[in-house]
Amino acid sequence: MTTISADSLPDALGAPARDFISRSHRLLIGGEQLEAADGRTFSTLDPASGREIAEVALGGAEDVARAVAAARDAFASGPWGSMPASGRERLMHGLADALEARAEEFAQIESLDNGKPVGLAQYVDVNGAVGHLRYFAGWPTKIEGGVLPVSAPNMHVYTRREPVGVCGQIIPWNFPLLMAAWKLGPALAAGCTVVLKPAEQTPLSALRLGELALEVGFPPGVLNVLTGDGETGAALVDHPDVDKIAFTGSTAVGREIGAKAGRALKRVTLELGGKSPNVILPDADIEAAVKGSFQAIYFNSGQACNAGSRLFVPADRYDEVLSALAEAAAAAQLGAGLDAGTQLGPLVSAEQQERVLGYIASGVEEGAEVLTGGEAALTDSGGYFVAPTLFSTTSDELRISREEIFGPVLVASPYDTLEEVAERANAGEYGLAAGVWTRDVGNAHKLAAMLRAGMVYINTWGAVDPSAPFGGFKASGIGREHGHDGLDAYLESKTVWTAL
Ligand code: ADP
Ligand code: MG
Repeated sequence: MTTISADSLPDALGAPARDFISRSHRLLIGGEQLEAADGRTFSTLDPASGREIAEVALGGAEDVARAVAAARDAFASGPWGSMPASGRERLMHGLADALEARAEEFAQIESLDNGKPVGLAQYVDVNGAVGHLRYFAGWPTKIEGGVLPVSAPNMHVYTRREPVGVCGQIIPWNFPLLMAAWKLGPALAAGCTVVLKPAEQTPLSALRLGELALEVGFPPGVLNVLTGDGETGAALVDHPDVDKIAFTGSTAVGREIGAKAGRALKRVTLELGGKSPNVILPDADIEAAVKGSFQAIYFNSGQACNAGSRLFVPADRYDEVLSALAEAAAAAQLGAGLDAGTQLGPLVSAEQQERVLGYIASGVEEGAEVLTGGEAALTDSGGYFVAPTLFSTTSDELRISREEIFGPVLVASPYDTLEEVAERANAGEYGLAAGVWTRDVGNAHKLAAMLRAGMVYINTWGAVDPSAPFGGFKASGIGREHGHDGLDAYLESKTVWTAL
């Protein structure tokens, strides 16, 4: 395995991040760092320059089998299964503390590997991951069964809540560390063991987190990190000794995983795509609505499953809202995530840039009007930048109005009545998030009830909290993460009958 020279990494990296990135990156299986069985590796790139930053082990089916075996050994009669709930709680707090103490290092790793602004990485990704681990660290000692008032006489009946088992967790590249924490929190709290498969575009922060878990005392095999690509993920889904699959990613892959899990009768949760409608009502605080709608789509360069990618504006406020949005989008500062002042980083890969530019071209071809952006940006950098783009159209039938673009592209459209906009917002296959901007409490909650989406944001967008369920209706997924629902997805119920 080759290593990249630390000198070729950006100057903005501090010593801890630089040291980690320039080390060799192996699979984390059963507490050991191992090369892939067949010795394969892949490169991870800096999306702001297209340069390689590290070479990482590419796990194959044999490595999946080793990792699943390690996770199985740690489960049940292993060190994790036999640890009291308070022990899991203590270790999870330890991991949260260790992560918090290295917030800057993690934010820099994430910013370089993914491209996102380092401030955003620290505030949203690292702090969010710490908060999530802390919330779920509180759960192990509060998982309770119940005693049931059955009709049969002389029976003592109770339920036990038991961990599902070995979990394969497959995560995307848009919030790599945060998605790892979202997956690990409930799994570890429930007492499951994990094989975590980060995305091939952004493998580094999960590897560092896995190391940290070992450093704070997690027993070997509880958290295995298997870097690799879609085939690595597929081998994990196919492994017969995996009890549950948790996946966040594209709807196409989610459908495939759901179908496989169905056939194998594995537990499965899926957090998939979206094309989330954001509705400004005529009485809204327009300034707040414009600011919020800007963040809703351009945050993380539009690479968020719950991005507010469709905007509905009352016809008589349309020009005012769109010109304010276009002006803000045109003024946004694009740059490398590690550069001070960057508001929008590059897209994660050349492939994503191409995909997004392809959607922009289709929008133009199908007759939508480009109000700002509409092209690649900072093209001399070698990075994968796309200018924040605003389309206007009266049609809901264009590809850009229906399909998830996963980039900084907003499609705006005027409307006339509340009923009309509710119907148009609910059209389409997705149902992840929806937003309403209004000062009218009645209309706000009427619309909140009418919108077919897992999350509805009123006068805000994209708020998350570990206690608040997150997930989608329709093709946006199956199950919920966070809170009670999120924990339940990692527990089985067992009913115990005793004749007295
Ligand atoms: P994107 O197209 O945005 O990269 P994907 O859904 O392909 O999103 O990727 C999300 C995660 O799923 C990544 O970790 C990726 O490696 C993994 N993955 C991709 N294809 C498969 C598959 N067929 N089975 C399991 N995991 C997969
Ligand atoms: Mg990368």
